[in-house]
Amino acid sequence: MAMQTDPVCGMQVDDQTTPQVSQYQGTTYYFCSEECKEMFDRQPQQYSGYAGWTQSGGQAKSGGQAKSGGYNR
Ligand SMILES: [Zn+2]
Repeated sequence: MAMQTDPVCGMQVDDQTTPQVSQYQGTTYYFCSEECKEMFDRQPQQYSGYAGWTQSGGQAKSGGQAKSGGYNR
């Protein structure tokens, strides 16, 4: 059992139990919920380089367009 970080919300996810799994560029990502997985699947490039993720802010360091709206609906 190993805990993985949900790249969308930053939660710790147990990779043995979560059904929300997505692969992007050879890396497997785990999500706490279907919503987080959908967020990732929509813009995987925004979340894939999340090493050093910080809970505060949520600034995407990849210079592209930040997600506009729709995060909390
Ligand atoms: Zn999540």
